[in-house]
Amino acid sequence: MQYYSRQYNIDYLFSALLSQLFINNEWHESVSGRKIPVRNPATGELLCEVEEADAEDIDKAVKSARAAFELGSPWRSMDASDRGRLLNKLADLVERDHLLLATLEALDSGKVFLVAFFVDLVATIKTLRYYAGWADKIHGKTIPIDGDYFTYTRHEPIGVCGQIIPWNFPVMMFSWKIAPALCSGNTVVIKPAEQTPLTALHMAALIKEAGFPPGVVNVVPGYGPTAGSAISHHMDIDKVAFSGSTAVGKLIQRAAGDTNLKRVTLELGGKNPIIVFADCDCEYSKYHASIAAWPGPGWFVEAPIYETFVRRSVEEGPLQGPGRPADARGGPGTTGTGMIDRKQFDKILELVESGQREGATLECGGAPWGQQGLYIQPTVFSNVTDDMRIAKEEIFGPVQQIMCFSSVEEVVTRANATHYGLAAGLFTSDIDKAFTVSAALQAGVVWVNCYNAMSVMCPFGGFKMSGNGRELGEYALQEYTEIKAITIKISKKNS
Ligand code: NAD
Repeated sequence: MQYYSRQYNIDYLFSALLSQLFINNEWHESVSGRKIPVRNPATGELLCEVEEADAEDIDKAVKSARAAFELGSPWRSMDASDRGRLLNKLADLVERDHLLLATLEALDSGKVFLVAFFVDLVATIKTLRYYAGWADKIHGKTIPIDGDYFTYTRHEPIGVCGQIIPWNFPVMMFSWKIAPALCSGNTVVIKPAEQTPLTALHMAALIKEAGFPPGVVNVVPGYGPTAGSAISHHMDIDKVAFSGSTAVGKLIQRAAGDTNLKRVTLELGGKNPIIVFADCDCEYSKYHASIAAWPGPGWFVEAPIYETFVRRSVEEGPLQGPGRPADARGGPGTTGTGMIDRKQFDKILELVESGQREGATLECGGAPWGQQGLYIQPTVFSNVTDDMRIAKEEIFGPVQQIMCFSSVEEVVTRANATHYGLAAGLFTSDIDKAFTVSAALQAGVVWVNCYNAMSVMCPFGGFKMSGNGRELGEYALQEYTEIKAITIKISKKNS
């Protein structure tokens, strides 16, 4: 296929790299003159440097987004269907640059190229088209209040939305954030993760090419405690949407409380339980054991199949990787992704050590993998108890912790005994268990006999400390609109 050969044309790729801040449809140097080094995490090599936004740059971006949101501006007065047309045009341009964006994403985030191409970019295009379709279908109601009045509601855009995203799905999360915001008429100041700014900057160029008016989208790479904090504290940002760690999510919510009570939506970490009942189709769950091993959910496996399940996990794990970003083959041996940076790498290995110290059985892995890059061997722990750190803390790496359970009541109680509540999975052939356990689990998403079955049409978000609000689907539109009730006195109403 053509894209396999063009994928290696690095000269072409580097000639297309964008490295400046995108504000008001123009490219800017940072006020401070500082730059962020951008590395390929699989090799450590420096790819380029991008301008580093700080508070003053964020302020410029907010002013531009505010001007674009003024009453009577081209954006505010545009037909809703034309907002949808622009989003569709952007999706067309992403399709045109599919190969380039996937290659950039692989190099910048360390993902395997085929994953970037067939998962991240495909989801990005679908997200843009899905919300393009919503643009002219967002509307209110008329309400028959008592008395001689006419009452109706308008679903209005909130205003300037600050959006802060992490490094695990850079371009896909970019689309998850901007698409619902734009289809409902908001303007955006978006900060990609400092580790992975390259696809966001390319998307900025496509946004301009698609014809979005100046200021509607501003893309400002920078670090969290500086640029991210400037967004969360800004008095003229009306809403902030954040994906990342629970620790930073708390800071974002606190910043909103300390400043202008901007609306806050948070998509945070999780410790997702996956429950495997003895009556499940074991071949099926074995397959999912390998794909769901990262980021490490907590596996609860019913006693009669526990030993078999552990053995199969040990056999399957090494089939995952280590995959290099430029690897276009896919399949066994190329799907494991490296850690994004040394901090994550050290954190995962420290958690693995804690598992050993606290008495879990290390069945395989547990050490760095390969000669180059930040790879960790697929790691399987058995005999894990609920009080161990590996059972309680989120592990953003290829570490599988397998616990044993004996009854439905017990496993539901244990699976819910966490501050998190993002997602959960369960495997069973018993329809009654599928309904009752999925209803009892405290999680925003429950997958039955599957895992990670994500779709742009389906809401995604967490209970408890996994976040506030929902992304994706129709539900996400609620997070980007204010409801205004308008009541007009009339002389005499009729039914
Ligand atoms: P993080 O929360 O530190 O960073 C995510 C984003 O927030 C980045 O853009 C970062 O620059 C920004 N940020 C950091 N500090 C900030 C601050 N004080 N104010 C405003 N913005 C700030 O996450 P990380 O270091 O990239 O990863 C750490 C952990 O986060 C992971 O181990 C994992 O648990 C979790 N995580 C969750 C998701 C998710 O999709 N839910 C994605 C990535 C990471």
